[in-house]
Amino acid sequence: MSTDQRKVAIVTGASRGIGAAIAQRLGQDGFSVIVNYAGDSATAEALAKQIKECGHRAFAFKADVSDTDAVKKMFDTVVSEFGFVDVVVNNAGIMELSKIAETTDESFDRQVAVNLKGTFNPLREAARRVRDGGRIINFSSSVVGLLPPTYAVYASIKAAIETMTKILAKELRGRNITVNTVAPGPTATQLFLKDKPQKVIDEFTKLAPLERLGRPEDIAGVVSFLAGPDGGWVNGQTLRANGGIV
Ligand code: NDP
Repeated sequence: MSTDQRKVAIVTGASRGIGAAIAQRLGQDGFSVIVNYAGDSATAEALAKQIKECGHRAFAFKADVSDTDAVKKMFDTVVSEFGFVDVVVNNAGIMELSKIAETTDESFDRQVAVNLKGTFNPLREAARRVRDGGRIINFSSSVVGLLPPTYAVYASIKAAIETMTKILAKELRGRNITVNTVAPGPTATQLFLKDKPQKVIDEFTKLAPLERLGRPEDIAGVVSFLAGPDGGWVNGQTLRANGGIV
């Protein structure tokens, strides 16, 4: 087991986008960072290497968050290698948009598996294993407030995640562990930009009074606050980070 006493953070879905920015930021903040991913080993390994080259500590770990055994194994490995877990960021997610009338069973099941069960699995392990004084941060979306057409399945699952967050915050009473949700607005990542015509991207860009899309670093800064010393009194909340769209 490692003798390094740095706090340990697991970030799910950290090979790119918001999760990658969170992994980089938590590395800078002094955490040993587990860069979780499901698909792209090369990107995740490259990110871990880049974080290490900046003098921080990072390790890539492949585990599909929808797979209960794989998630359990990831936590087992982290605890046996590092001795403890202090922060879990449940960031992994996919987004598939369609009107309810046109939504297929496959799309519904995929989003429930990755976004709902894929949040629940690491959340359950976090509830069991995060050290006293730790932080758990889930991911919702500002579409829970905006409720645009075609977002029904995605937004409903995110609303469920906000509900689980508030309940777990109460269940962990007495252990000085905070559980919060970050709900970004449109953020310039593959998940948001993929398959969107430029006209639609331009419309989203103008939605916020701050008149730009979110950047992964904007969201990483919010996670850093919640994971760090200044965030310790925020508990059971949903923090919308969206430039003011809702
Ligand atoms: P990206 O698509 O850019 O990145 C998603 C990450 O999740 C990738 O690293 C991907 O890696 C990983 N991932 C996907 N499926 C799984 C899985 N089953 N198990 C483990 N990892 C997985 O998305 P964003 O960075 O944009 O989104 C991050 C979070 O923020 C999501 O929860 C999303 O819903 C939320 N969000 C994003 C917004 C936006 O506008 N971008 C707005 C509001 C919320 P790989 O494919 O290699 O597994």
